[in-house]
Amino acid sequence: MEYRVLLYYKYVPIEDPEQFAIDHLEFCKELGLLGRILVSEEGINGTVSGTVEQTEKYMQALREDPRFADTVFKVDEASGHAFKKMHVRHKKELVNLSLEDDVNPLEITGKHLSPKEFYENMQQEDTVVIDARNDYEYDLGHFRGAIRPDIKTFRELPDWIRDNNEVLEGKKILTYCTGGVRCEKFSGWLLKEGHQDVSQLDGGIVTYGKDPEVQGKLWDGQCYVFDERISVPVNRVEHVIVGKDYFTSEPCERYVNCANPECNKQIICSEENEYKYMRSCSHECRVDPRNLYVKEHEMTEEEISARLAEIDRENKVTSR
Ligand SMILES: [Zn+2]
Repeated sequence: MEYRVLLYYKYVPIEDPEQFAIDHLEFCKELGLLGRILVSEEGINGTVSGTVEQTEKYMQALREDPRFADTVFKVDEASGHAFKKMHVRHKKELVNLSLEDDVNPLEITGKHLSPKEFYENMQQEDTVVIDARNDYEYDLGHFRGAIRPDIKTFRELPDWIRDNNEVLEGKKILTYCTGGVRCEKFSGWLLKEGHQDVSQLDGGIVTYGKDPEVQGKLWDGQCYVFDERISVPVNRVEHVIVGKDYFTSEPCERYVNCANPECNKQIICSEENEYKYMRSCSHECRVDPRNLYVKEHEMTEEEISARLAEIDRENKVTSR
């Protein structure tokens, strides 16, 4: 069976988003879709997986609603579902910027650039490219030379920009994110902050990677996605690995979650190091009584001690 993953958003006023979310969840469940959809007064933002038939029906139904008639769907072929459950949640904002003075992208937003325009513009002088995503997304892949904001969540971005304003001052600013939904707001915010020349990558990285002309050029690494695939390829001309193993800093593109469920931190690490470090980011996480790696592998006390002793031995060697 052939599957697809859809990624889409639409900024458009939705009245009574709570009720909309309840009805929409029912509709998605009837179709057999799995995924995550956010609904707010300012629009809809979703990513869902299903068979070709299911996703086709979904896109058709959404487009029949005048509010969503021109929604752009990014469609990826897949070998199965990319989610385990179906959620439709009502949120205050489509993307959480938590601004005191919220930005409405329907009123103010950066200029939309096609993949080709973005590709050309990013190579021009006096231009800075800012990644509007989180640090762990950047670390797996990004546009060559793009600025990496040191942030864990999107709502930290405005403060980071204000603290690092000198890198943007007087420059042409290009922003990009996974599918475009974050940049709609972020680029509008930059304009409100007084930056004159602000553009955004229309359709985001996902669209850029599919563009037949630019073919993902000047993208290094993989694109982090918020589903079970974890990452998707972008650059179809050359593949440069930028991800680094958390433990050894060797080139790596394999993301895992720390086995301590309380921590759950995403770390890039090889299969070899997952074994060696029990898929845990720190000693504290390794010895946590809830450690999932220990449970999954039914490790005995002796086995755990042996693994810890091995790490200890190695640390002594490297620090010598
Ligand atoms: Zn951890």
